[in-house]
Amino acid sequence: MTDILQIRADVHTHTVASTHGYSTINENAAAAQALGMQLLAVTDHGPAMPDAPHVWHFHNYKVLPREIGGIKMLYGVEANIIDENGTLDMDEHELSFCEWVIASYHLQCVKFERTAELVSQGYRKVCEHPLVDVIGHPTTAMFPFDYESVIKVFRESGKLVEINESSLKWKRGALDNAKIFYALCKKYEVPLALNTDAHYAGLIGRTPLAAQLLHDLDYPRRLIVTLDPEQIMDMAHRKRGISFDSDVKQFEKEPS
Ligand SMILES: [Zn+2]
Ligand SMILES: [Zn+2]
Repeated sequence: MTDILQIRADVHTHTVASTHGYSTINENAAAAQALGMQLLAVTDHGPAMPDAPHVWHFHNYKVLPREIGGIKMLYGVEANIIDENGTLDMDEHELSFCEWVIASYHLQCVKFERTAELVSQGYRKVCEHPLVDVIGHPTTAMFPFDYESVIKVFRESGKLVEINESSLKWKRGALDNAKIFYALCKKYEVPLALNTDAHYAGLIGRTPLAAQLLHDLDYPRRLIVTLDPEQIMDMAHRKRGISFDSDVKQFEKEPS
């Protein structure tokens, strides 16, 4: 299956900057290059995660190259949705240093009662945030929500919805829920980011469970944006003015 749906962009990956990640940026880029991929987004955890990098990690992204070993790079964050109002753990100034923003719920980072009503509300609210690009790993059992009504909001807001290999493999309920959730995403023609959420270089680019699920659903390839890095680069260019043609990272502080 992986040869049928081999992603060319992996836009949810972690490094040693989060201590429960085990590989460096260069190791991740080399792994992507070995699979013939074209684009990688580095998305270490936002500050609400207990072992997240200091916020200076994000502020200093300017020193990193646009390309490593032939792999185009985006430097971003997996921000935490911390409450039922869709509040993120980084403000707009801090997020302005990031080129790619995933918004995820994590058990360690929320204090509200995780009812379907409140989790749904948090998702609806976070869709109003202009700097969020992707809704991260939405199918874990810890965060139930009203799939159908919220999927419509994801679609209307233009956010990518993630299908996350690590979540399907290791998180309770994620795979069973995913069969229902992504069938609904197909119904509403939601663009998906098929990602690994790799915390180790050997897992970069490899999505056997998620790819099998999308194959079984006959999910339209055109809606799986990480199969086509041009779509990601186009998004990054339109939203943040990022150019992939030169080594100079062009940043717009005020994304349009
Ligand atoms: Zn993590
Ligand atoms: Zn992650």
